[in-house]
Amino acid sequence: MTLDLAAVYRDLHEHPELSFQEHRTAGIVAEALTSFGLIVTTGIGRTGVVGVLENGAGPTVLLRADMDGLPVLEVTGLPYASTARGTDHEGNDMPVMHACGHDVHVTCLLGATERLVADRASWSGTLIALFQPAEEWGGGAEAMVADGLYDRVPKPDIVLGQHVAPFPAGFAGVHAGVAMAAADSLSVRLHGTGGHGSRPETTVDPVYLAASTTVRLQGIVARELAATDAAVVTVGQIHAGTKSNIIPAEATLGLSVRSFDETVRTKVLAAIERIAKAEAAASGAPREPEITFEESFPLTVNEPAATERTAAALRRALGEQRVIDPGLVSGSEDVGVLATAAGAPLVYWFLGGADPSLFGDALATGRMPDDIPSNHSPFFAPLIEPTLDVGVAALVAAAREWLDSTEA
Ligand SMILES: [Zn+2]
Ligand SMILES: [Zn+2]
Repeated sequence: MTLDLAAVYRDLHEHPELSFQEHRTAGIVAEALTSFGLIVTTGIGRTGVVGVLENGAGPTVLLRADMDGLPVLEVTGLPYASTARGTDHEGNDMPVMHACGHDVHVTCLLGATERLVADRASWSGTLIALFQPAEEWGGGAEAMVADGLYDRVPKPDIVLGQHVAPFPAGFAGVHAGVAMAAADSLSVRLHGTGGHGSRPETTVDPVYLAASTTVRLQGIVARELAATDAAVVTVGQIHAGTKSNIIPAEATLGLSVRSFDETVRTKVLAAIERIAKAEAAASGAPREPEITFEESFPLTVNEPAATERTAAALRRALGEQRVIDPGLVSGSEDVGVLATAAGAPLVYWFLGGADPSLFGDALATGRMPDDIPSNHSPFFAPLIEPTLDVGVAALVAAAREWLDSTEA
């Protein structure tokens, strides 16, 4: 049997599922991997699926795809556009769309696995095809590791994966070293003492506390980091109160933090905690603030030597001019968790998915088009081919670079 990858892709695209609810997708994946002859384990980290093919002595190579969609209403107008709805973790009814292209990742990994199985006489080693839930929450990879992933499947010698991106289909992009930002979102619950708006002396005002904390937090990047270090501290939410003449009992701040270096990240997060506690103490708050980490993505770091070796294999497979260096990307990923937990190097690359004809004017005008929908856009619509073809070829080439060759 050979999978019709375009049909698999259209079906997945039409039936996206929210994070940790990828039951239908996981079922399709498990069935395909079983039909290829892999040993399949389901339900790792709730909806994660892993297929293992032990094919003689040699290195263990892990290929990773993520499976979840996003709460976005699709407006691409494609014949296979999603009309799916889902219930988010707070119980809200939501539209669901594969707006980040994880359907491309699932399809390409199924295609690559089928091809590697068909060519198994020409290589030896162990192949792991891993399909991860909930990348969009930053919790899926961690959930699989916490659920005993590496007690249930062999630890890999290398972790490889790819993400579709809005540059021309037919191209791949890989950057050695720190490739994507770390992202942390956290909420800070500040406690005061409520009372009448006319008598502030009987209260501890959490609105005033929230305001002073917000201002002071901006001093972290401005006054505590070196000029050569970069980070972002954004207070994106302030919630407090119900009426203008009532001083509320508490206020909540929602923060988003981006950083490109683990030392800087640790320093910024520690400074946030220090400032929140100190401002609460300065207000005479009845209790220390509660700081809750919500989504967390580590730095995505491509191990330099492994990246050079993999990039050379990608250039041989796709063509010398078709592998670019996209530089540092400000988005975030949790694929690194799978590599760190195994003590293995990571190589994670980008796969072009946009219609190359849209870039024609860029050559003439010297300007990149800014109307090409990016990931998370309701218009995001990767070109099926050559995207799938190149995505499969890239995974196969990268895997074969690390598996032993039995060819003379
Ligand atoms: Zn995404
Ligand atoms: Zn994504």
